Amino acid sequence: MKTIPEYFGCMVFNDEAMKNFLSEDVFKALKSTIEGGEHLDSSVANEVAHGMKDWALSLGCTHFTHWFQPMTGITAEKHDSFIIPQEGGKVIMEFSGKELIKGESDASSFPSGGIRATFEARGYTAWDPTSYAFVMGNTLYIPTVFCSYTGDVLDKKTPLLRSMERISAEALRLLKALGRDDVSHVFATVGAEQEYFLIDKEMYIERRDLMYTGRTLFGARPPKGQEMDDHYFGAIKPRVAAFMEDLDHELWKLGVYAKTEHNEAAPCQHELAPVFTTCNLASDHNQLTMEVMKNLAPKHGFVCLLHEKPFEGVNGSGKHNNWSLTTNTGENLFRPGKKPFENKQFLLFLAAVIKGVDEYQDLLRISVATAGNDHRLGAHEAPPAIMSIFLGEELEGVLEAVANGEEFVGAKRSKMGMGVDVLPEFKKDTTDRNRTSPIAFTGNKFEFRSLGSSLNIACPNIMINTIVAEQLSQFADVLENSDDINSDIHKIVGDVYKNHHRIIFNGNNYAEEWLTEAEARGLLNYRTMPEAMEHYGDEKNVRLFEKNKVYNRNEINARSEILLESYNKTINIEALTMLDMARKDIFPAVSRFIGDMCTSVASKRSISENLPTDAEVGLIRKLSDLLEKFSDYADELQAAVDKAHASKGSALEISYVYCNDVLSAMQKLRKVSDIMEQYTCAQYWPYPSYGRLLFTM
Ligand code: ADP
Ligand code: MG
Repeated sequence: MKTIPEYFGCMVFNDEAMKNFLSEDVFKALKSTIEGGEHLDSSVANEVAHGMKDWALSLGCTHFTHWFQPMTGITAEKHDSFIIPQEGGKVIMEFSGKELIKGESDASSFPSGGIRATFEARGYTAWDPTSYAFVMGNTLYIPTVFCSYTGDVLDKKTPLLRSMERISAEALRLLKALGRDDVSHVFATVGAEQEYFLIDKEMYIERRDLMYTGRTLFGARPPKGQEMDDHYFGAIKPRVAAFMEDLDHELWKLGVYAKTEHNEAAPCQHELAPVFTTCNLASDHNQLTMEVMKNLAPKHGFVCLLHEKPFEGVNGSGKHNNWSLTTNTGENLFRPGKKPFENKQFLLFLAAVIKGVDEYQDLLRISVATAGNDHRLGAHEAPPAIMSIFLGEELEGVLEAVANGEEFVGAKRSKMGMGVDVLPEFKKDTTDRNRTSPIAFTGNKFEFRSLGSSLNIACPNIMINTIVAEQLSQFADVLENSDDINSDIHKIVGDVYKNHHRIIFNGNNYAEEWLTEAEARGLLNYRTMPEAMEHYGDEKNVRLFEKNKVYNRNEINARSEILLESYNKTINIEALTMLDMARKDIFPAVSRFIGDMCTSVASKRSISENLPTDAEVGLIRKLSDLLEKFSDYADELQAAVDKAHASKGSALEISYVYCNDVLSAMQKLRKVSDIMEQYTCAQYWPYPSYGRLLFTM
C-alpha cells in the first residue's frame, strides 16, 4: 500500500506530473504563466494539452470537462470524450490546445441576471492555468472561468482572479514605497474550515423537506439537543470515522490539504479544515471538498447536509474563511512580530483591513447573504449580521498608542526611532480566543466567520481582496510621494484608528448589549438578505469595483439580480414543500389519529357509559383545535405564496414578500405542526423525528 506522501495529489496534474508529461521548455513556459501571470502562446498550449491528455489517459480517463463555477453556487461540468474518428471506423484519443484553452457552451440555462438574453446563448469557458487540472472518475477536470459572448463574467472564479491580481499589485506598490524591492508577487491565502452534518440516508429519503430544500421545515425539538455540550470534539463514532478516513483519502488524491477533522457542537455535526493555500486554489478545493463529501456519504449510508440550518434548535453549519497575505518570498504580511508597535509594515496592512471593513461593511454582509445563512446570523450560534473586527486588547492598544502619539510627533518620534519600546511585548496568545466575532484577527490572519456552510468562498474573498486592495492603493498613493515616510505612516495608521475604531469590538458579539452598542456606533445591521442586497449597487460600491476592475456596473446589477432570484426561488420551494407535506402527510396523519381515538372512545362507551374517556376526549379536542389552526395557517401560507407569485415587482421587491410574508407564514405553520407532533402518537407521525435523525447514528 502506498503511503500518504506517495499518493497525495496522484490525481492532480501538478508539477511532478507536468515534469513527467511535458518537455522542459513547455513546463517552464507553463510555470511562468502560473506564477508570473504571463500569457501562454498557442503552440505551448497545444503541447500542454497533449501532455495533459497522455497523463489523463494513463489514469484511465476517457473524457474531459471544463469545470466552472456559474452563479448557481455549485460547480458545472459538461463531459466530452477524447475520441476523434479515423478512417476505417477507428478512433484515436486527442485533445488540442484549443480545446484546453477555450470551451463554448450553451449558457442559456445558467443564471445571468439579464446580462445574456436567452437567444444569445453563447457562453465561453476559458482555462485557468493557475489551478491544477485533476482527474475524478474517468474524467479530466480542467478548472475554467465562464463568461458571456460580450465578455461580462457569469461566474465566481473570474472576479476572484481579478481581485487577487488587484491585491497583489497594490500590496506590491505599498511594499515598494516602504523600500521593499525583494518581493515580486503577493498572494491572498485562504484556509476554509468546513462544517457539515451527516445523517442516515434511510431517514433522509423519508423527508421531502430534506430532499427538496436541504433543511427540515417541520420537526419538534427532541428532549435532548446539544445542551450537554457532549458532541463538540467528542469521540468520533466508528461509522463517521470510516467516512472521514475515506474523505481524507479521496481529498488527498485530489491534492486537497485536508488536515483537521472533529465533531462540532451539534449532534451529527462535523468539521473539516484544510491547510491554507492561495485563494483561488483554496476556493476550488473547497468546492471540491463539498462535492466529494456529498458524493462519498451515500457509500457509508449517510447523506451529507451542507445547508446552513438543517435543524431548528440546534446549531447550523458555517464556514470559517481564514485569510492572509503572503509574499512570493514566503513572508506573512499579517505577522505582527515581537514588536508590532515598531512593525510599520504590519501596522499599515492591519490598518488597511480595519479601514476597508469599516467602509465596506455592507459588501461583507452581502458576500455571505443567502436564504439559508439568514437563519444563522445573529441566532446566538454565529456572529450577528453586524460586521466588526476582533483585534484583542493588546493590539488595539498598539493602534491607540500610535493614534495618540500623533499629538507629540517630534519628541516621541525620535525616542521611538531609538528603539525605546514603551509597550509591553506583544505575544500571540496573550489575548483569549474570541469565538463570537465575525472577523477575528487570530495572530497572523483574519478569520471571517459569517459564511454559511454551502457558500462558494469566492464571494467573500472577492470582497475582502478588493476592499483591502483599495485601501492599500490609497496608502501607496500617499507613501509613494512622501517626503517623510515615517511620519506619514504614523499619520495613516493613527488616522485609521481615530476614524474607524468603531469597527473594532473585542467583547461578546452574541450579547444583546452589543446590538445596542453597535447601533450607537453607527454600524450597519442588515438582518435579512433583502435589506443587505439593497446596497450592492450603491454608488460607493460601484466606484470601488469599477476602479479596481473587478466588476463593472452591469455585472454588479446582474449579480444582485441573480442572488435575489436565488433567494426568492429558495424560499418559494421551501413554502411549496411545506404545503405539500402539510396537506398530503401531516394533516391526514393527525386526522387519522384523531379519528382512531374517536373510534376508541365510541367503543369504550358502547361497553359502558361509565368508562372514563376524559383523557382521550381532551386530546381529541386539543388536536382538533390545533388541526383547525394548522389548516388555516396553510391557507395563509398559500395566500402569501400567491402574493409573491402575483407580484410584478423587481426581484428585490419580490424578495421582501418572501422575507416578510412567506417566511413568517411558514414559521406559524411550523409552530402548530411541531406542537401537534408532540401530542400525536409516533406511529402516526409521517416523518422520522428530530430525535431519530440526530441521535440514532
Ligand atoms: P481554529 O480556527 O479551529 O482554531 P486554526 O486557527 O488552527 O483553527 O486554523 C484555521 C485555519 O486557518 C486552517 O485552515 C489553517 O490552515 C488556516 N491558516 C493558518 N494560517 C493561515 C494563513 N496565513 N492564511 C490563511 N489561512 C491560514
Ligand atoms: Mg476557526
